[in-house]
Amino acid sequence: MTAQLIDGNQLSKQLRTAVATRAQALKAKGVTPGLAVVLVGDNPASQVYVRNKVKACEDSGLHSVLEKYEATMTEADLLGRVEALNKEPGIHGILVQLPLPAHIDAQKVIEAISPAKDVDGFHIASAGALMTGLPGFWPCTPYGCMKMLESIGYDLRGKHAVVIGRSNIVGKPMALMLLQKDATVTVAHSRTQNLKALTLQADVIVAAVGKRNVLTADMVKPGAVVLDVGMNRNDEGKLCGDVDFDGVKEVAGYITPVPGGVGPMTITMLLVNTLEAAERASK
Ligand code: NAP
Repeated sequence: MTAQLIDGNQLSKQLRTAVATRAQALKAKGVTPGLAVVLVGDNPASQVYVRNKVKACEDSGLHSVLEKYEATMTEADLLGRVEALNKEPGIHGILVQLPLPAHIDAQKVIEAISPAKDVDGFHIASAGALMTGLPGFWPCTPYGCMKMLESIGYDLRGKHAVVIGRSNIVGKPMALMLLQKDATVTVAHSRTQNLKALTLQADVIVAAVGKRNVLTADMVKPGAVVLDVGMNRNDEGKLCGDVDFDGVKEVAGYITPVPGGVGPMTITMLLVNTLEAAERASK
C-alpha cells in the first residue's frame, strides 16, 4: 500500500474529546448543549443511525432527546413537534431523521426547523449561508470530509478537486466547501461523460455516489487524495464504499477506508454543530 490512511475513527476521537471539553465549559456556565432527534416510522437503518447519534451525544457530555413516532404520524403533528422544539430552550439542535414516510413532505419539515437549530445543515437558510460564505451550519458529511483534509494539513489552494455526486446533502455542499478553500472544483454526476478523464486530473477526489467501484485505480492520478463517502454492501454483505479500495490504495497518496472513514466523521460533525449551536445561543 502506498497511500496513507485517513482514519475517521481516530480523528473523530480527537474531535469528540475537544467537543466534550467545550461542553464542560458551557455546563460550567449553566448550559448543557442539547440535541433532539426525531424519528418517524420504523426504518431499520434509521433506527441504527439515531441510536448511534444519541449514544455519541451521551459519550461527549451532550444532552439528547430521542422522540420516536409511529409511521402514521401526520405531517401537521410532526410540524407541531418541530415548532415546539424550536421554542424549547434546552434544545439547541434539531435533527429529523430522513427518510420520512411518503405522506410527509420532508422539505417542508426541514424548512420548519429554526435555522439557529439546523444542526444537520439541510435548511435552505443553511444552504444559502454556505453558498455565500456566511456563518451557518454545514452539512455534517461534507464538513467531516473537510476536517479530514485539514487533519493531513492539505492546502486546497489552486488544487483541482473532483466531486462525484451532486446531492443536496453531500455532493453540492462538498463542492461549495472546497471552492471556499480556493480549490478548482468539478462536479460529476450520472450524466457526466468520460469521468475517468476528469478524475485523472484531480488532486482530490470525493466519491459520493452510492455505487461500488465507481472509482478504480486506473482513474486516479498518483498521489491524489481520495475521500470515499459511499456506503454500499459487497457480495458478502459487508459495508464498502464507492472506491475500489484495494486497487486505489496502491496509487493514491491518501485514502479514507469504509468503514472507519467518513462515516464516524458525520456523527462527529453533528456533535460539533450542536455544540456550536449551544455556544451561539448562550452568547
Ligand atoms: P444520492 O442522493 O443518491 O446521490 C448520488 C449522486 O451520484 C447523484 O448526484 C447521481 O447523479 C450520482 N451518480 C449516480 N451514478 C453515477 C455514476 N455512475 N457516475 C457518477 N455519478 C453518479 O446519494 P447521497 O445521499 O449523496 O449519498 C451518496 C452515497 O454516500 C451513498 O452511498 C450514501 O449512503 C452515502 N452517504 C454516506 C454518509 C456517511 O456518513 N458516510 C452520509 C451520507 C451519504 P444524478 O444527480 O445525475 O442522479
